[in-house]
Amino acid sequence: MKCRECGQDYVESTGDYHFKLSGLDNAYIEDAHLIKCGCGVGLKIKSMGSVLDELGNAVINKPGPLNGQEIRYLRKNAGLSAREFARLLEVNHTTLSKWENGRAPGRPNDLLIRLAYAAWKGYEHPKRIFDIFEKVRKQRKRNIGIKLIPAARENFEVEYAV
Ligand SMILES: [Zn+2]
Repeated sequence: MKCRECGQDYVESTGDYHFKLSGLDNAYIEDAHLIKCGCGVGLKIKSMGSVLDELGNAVINKPGPLNGQEIRYLRKNAGLSAREFARLLEVNHTTLSKWENGRAPGRPNDLLIRLAYAAWKGYEHPKRIFDIFEKVRKQRKRNIGIKLIPAARENFEVEYAV
Protein backbone atom coordinates (compact mmCIF):
# COMPACT_ATOMS: atom_id res chain seq x y z
CA MET A 1 0.00 0.00 0.00
CA LYS A 2 1.12 3.54 -0.70
CA CYS A 3 1.18 6.31 1.85
CA ARG A 4 -1.18 9.13 0.93
CA GLU A 5 1.23 11.68 2.40
CA CYS A 6 4.58 10.81 0.79
CA GLY A 7 3.53 8.39 -1.98
CA GLN A 8 6.00 5.71 -0.90
CA ASP A 9 5.06 2.09 -0.33
CA TYR A 10 4.55 1.13 3.27
CA VAL A 11 7.01 -1.37 4.65
CA GLU A 12 5.57 -3.37 7.51
CA SER A 13 7.70 -4.91 10.20
CA THR A 14 7.77 -5.80 13.87
CA GLY A 15 9.99 -4.10 16.37
CA ASP A 16 10.26 -1.99 19.46
CA TYR A 17 8.53 1.34 19.19
CA HIS A 18 9.52 4.40 21.15
CA PHE A 19 6.03 5.70 21.90
CA LYS A 20 6.87 9.43 21.71
CA LEU A 21 3.34 10.25 20.61
CA SER A 22 2.31 9.60 24.20
CA GLY A 23 4.36 12.59 25.33
CA LEU A 24 6.46 10.27 27.49
CA ASP A 25 10.20 9.89 26.86
CA ASN A 26 10.24 6.61 28.75
CA ALA A 27 7.41 4.67 27.07
CA TYR A 28 8.11 1.82 24.65
CA ILE A 29 5.98 -0.80 22.99
CA GLU A 30 7.78 -4.06 22.40
CA ASP A 31 7.13 -6.17 19.31
CA ALA A 32 4.92 -3.47 17.90
CA HIS A 33 3.46 -3.70 14.40
CA LEU A 34 5.38 -0.95 12.59
CA ILE A 35 4.74 0.73 9.27
CA LYS A 36 7.55 2.66 7.62
CA CYS A 37 7.40 5.10 4.75
CA GLY A 38 8.97 8.42 3.79
CA CYS A 39 7.09 10.05 6.65
CA GLY A 40 8.88 7.95 9.24
CA VAL A 41 7.90 5.03 11.40
CA GLY A 42 4.31 4.65 12.49
CA LEU A 43 2.50 2.32 14.77
CA LYS A 44 -0.24 0.06 13.50
CA ILE A 45 -2.58 -0.71 16.29
CA LYS A 46 -6.13 -2.02 16.65
CA SER A 47 -7.29 0.29 19.36
CA MET A 48 -5.21 3.33 20.23
CA GLY A 49 -7.57 4.05 23.13
CA SER A 50 -6.81 0.74 24.80
CA VAL A 51 -3.07 1.27 24.40
CA LEU A 52 -3.33 4.74 25.94
CA ASP A 53 -5.36 3.35 28.85
CA GLU A 54 -2.89 0.50 29.30
CA LEU A 55 -0.10 3.04 29.40
CA GLY A 56 -2.04 5.11 31.95
CA ASN A 57 -2.41 2.01 34.08
CA ALA A 58 1.32 1.36 33.78
CA VAL A 59 2.06 4.94 34.84
CA ILE A 60 -0.09 4.84 37.99
CA ASN A 61 1.39 1.45 38.91
CA LYS A 62 4.91 2.68 38.27
CA PRO A 63 7.33 2.19 41.13
CA GLY A 64 9.03 5.39 42.19
CA PRO A 65 7.77 8.94 41.88
CA LEU A 66 5.86 10.28 38.88
CA ASN A 67 7.71 12.73 36.67
CA GLY A 68 6.17 15.80 35.05
CA GLN A 69 5.50 14.14 31.70
CA GLU A 70 3.69 11.30 33.44
CA ILE A 71 1.49 13.66 35.44
CA ARG A 72 0.59 15.50 32.24
CA TYR A 73 -0.05 12.19 30.50
CA LEU A 74 -2.46 11.05 33.22
CA ARG A 75 -4.34 14.32 33.08
CA LYS A 76 -4.65 14.25 29.30
CA ASN A 77 -5.64 10.59 29.17
CA ALA A 78 -8.33 11.36 31.73
CA GLY A 79 -9.56 13.94 29.20
CA LEU A 80 -9.15 16.83 31.63
CA SER A 81 -7.85 20.35 31.16
CA ALA A 82 -5.19 21.61 33.56
CA ARG A 83 -7.84 23.68 35.38
CA GLU A 84 -10.22 20.74 35.67
CA PHE A 85 -7.54 18.41 36.99
CA ALA A 86 -6.26 21.04 39.42
CA ARG A 87 -9.82 21.51 40.72
CA LEU A 88 -10.18 17.75 41.18
CA LEU A 89 -6.94 17.64 43.20
CA GLU A 90 -7.85 20.85 45.04
CA VAL A 91 -4.58 22.51 44.10
CA ASN A 92 -3.94 25.78 42.32
CA HIS A 93 -3.56 25.27 38.58
CA THR A 94 -0.13 26.95 38.71
CA THR A 95 0.92 24.30 41.22
CA LEU A 96 -0.23 21.60 38.83
CA SER A 97 1.63 23.35 36.02
CA LYS A 98 4.84 23.29 38.07
CA TRP A 99 4.40 19.57 38.70
CA GLU A 100 3.82 18.93 35.00
CA ASN A 101 6.99 20.88 34.26
CA GLY A 102 9.18 18.87 36.54
CA ARG A 103 8.78 20.01 40.13
CA ALA A 104 8.31 16.95 42.34
CA PRO A 105 4.81 16.97 43.82
CA GLY A 106 5.95 15.07 46.92
CA ARG A 107 4.73 11.67 47.96
CA PRO A 108 1.20 12.45 49.24
CA ASN A 109 0.38 14.47 46.13
CA ASP A 110 2.00 11.84 43.91
CA LEU A 111 -0.36 9.26 45.39
CA LEU A 112 -3.32 11.64 45.19
CA ILE A 113 -2.67 12.14 41.45
CA ARG A 114 -2.63 8.38 40.88
CA LEU A 115 -5.77 7.87 42.93
CA ALA A 116 -7.60 10.72 41.21
CA TYR A 117 -6.74 9.21 37.82
CA ALA A 118 -7.84 5.72 38.91
CA ALA A 119 -11.10 7.06 40.31
CA TRP A 120 -11.73 9.20 37.25
CA LYS A 121 -11.11 6.25 34.94
CA GLY A 122 -13.55 4.11 36.90
CA TYR A 123 -11.22 1.67 38.66
CA GLU A 124 -13.60 -0.16 40.94
CA HIS A 125 -11.69 -2.62 43.02
CA PRO A 126 -10.03 -0.84 45.98
CA LYS A 127 -7.28 -3.46 46.09
CA ARG A 128 -6.30 -2.56 42.55
CA ILE A 129 -5.79 0.98 43.73
CA PHE A 130 -4.11 0.33 47.05
CA ASP A 131 -1.70 -2.17 45.51
CA ILE A 132 -0.31 0.90 43.81
CA PHE A 133 0.86 2.31 47.16
CA GLU A 134 2.75 -0.87 47.83
CA LYS A 135 4.56 -0.68 44.51
CA VAL A 136 5.43 2.97 44.98
CA ARG A 137 6.80 2.19 48.42
CA LYS A 138 8.99 -0.65 47.17
CA GLN A 139 11.08 1.30 44.73
CA ARG A 140 11.97 4.95 44.64
CA LYS A 141 14.06 5.07 41.50
CA ARG A 142 13.45 7.97 39.16
CA ASN A 143 13.22 7.98 35.36
CA ILE A 144 12.08 4.44 35.17
CA GLY A 145 11.23 3.09 31.72
CA ILE A 146 7.81 1.70 30.88
CA LYS A 147 7.54 -1.04 28.31
CA LEU A 148 4.25 -2.41 27.06
CA ILE A 149 4.64 -6.00 25.94
CA PRO A 150 1.92 -7.54 23.79
CA ALA A 151 0.20 -10.36 25.65
CA ALA A 152 -3.22 -11.62 24.59
CA ARG A 153 -4.97 -9.81 21.77
CA GLU A 154 -5.09 -6.08 22.40
CA ASN A 155 -3.65 -6.60 25.84
CA PHE A 156 -0.26 -5.70 27.20
CA GLU A 157 1.96 -6.71 30.03
CA VAL A 158 4.13 -4.06 31.54
CA GLU A 159 7.82 -4.10 32.25
CA TYR A 160 9.77 -1.45 34.05
CA ALA A 161 13.44 -0.78 33.44
CA VAL A 162 15.80 1.87 34.69
ZN1 LIG B 1 4.39 8.48 4.15
